[in-house]
Amino acid sequence: MTVKIAVAGAKGRMGQLIIEEVERFEDLELVAGFDILGVGTPLGGGIAVSDASEMAEGLRKSGAQVLIDFTTPAATVENVQVAADLGVNLVVGTTGFSEDQKEEMAQAVDGRVAAVISPNYSLGVNLFWKLIEVAAKSLQGYDIEVIEAHHRNKMDAPSGTAAEAVRVLAEATGKIEAVYGREGQGLRGDEIGVHAVRAGDIVGDHTVLFAGPGERLEIKHQAHSRQAFASGAVRAARWVAGVPSGVYAMANVLGQK
Ligand code: NAP
Repeated sequence: MTVKIAVAGAKGRMGQLIIEEVERFEDLELVAGFDILGVGTPLGGGIAVSDASEMAEGLRKSGAQVLIDFTTPAATVENVQVAADLGVNLVVGTTGFSEDQKEEMAQAVDGRVAAVISPNYSLGVNLFWKLIEVAAKSLQGYDIEVIEAHHRNKMDAPSGTAAEAVRVLAEATGKIEAVYGREGQGLRGDEIGVHAVRAGDIVGDHTVLFAGPGERLEIKHQAHSRQAFASGAVRAARWVAGVPSGVYAMANVLGQK
């Protein structure tokens, strides 16, 4: 059975790659692409960019079953509401949500549609989160630093992937304080240090460093291209088309939980 896919942020860095990825598969059909700029320009498969402000009508007319959204936090929160009202399942890749925005999305989805929400759709990063959990549990008492690097156009810092790493590490160690960058005088405390580098066209690097007496362990993931995120997001779209309502993580898609 073919799954009908719509993409929000269709002209964005991720949106364009996701559309190419959708078109590679015979069991997926691109039925709509939404953005705020470039309305009317062709997207392939006979589809043109639809105006994001008319998403409800566009989703209804196209018969979309899954909306893949890689836009901005404010846009995604609205898009999730629109899709949930219409019974369209979701794959959300946008990062940088506030706690309130996360709550708003969870409420919109609750009992109505299925949504995979993940700050990182790459297979490697989903394993990275598991590996750092194991390391943190084994290396109790070690200092932990999270270092991430991204391209100069990234809007949010630290990255959603680093924020999820901090959450995993805090849960594994009980270190509840995170310190973002350091400056001036003072010793390090029992904290998780977090550092965000923004430069050039770096796709996305994440390192967690564990340091104790006489040694350190670094667990590192480097994305070489956005393809890793696009193929994971499309895999999630195929999966989310056939599951009961609820909020899911990429780990659910991968059968890891
Ligand atoms: P981008 O190139 O800026 O793309 C975002 C696109 O969304 C732009 O074309 C933007 O239009 C458009 N847009 C803005 N508001 C919209 C709306 N209401 N409806 C539809 N489209 C709208 O950014 P990107 O690099 O693709 O990243 C997008 C998001 O995905 C970011 O939050 C990023 O951190 C996240 N991301 C997640 C993953 C993951 O694996 N989860 C991987 C990579 C990136 P304008 O340019 O005209 O504003």
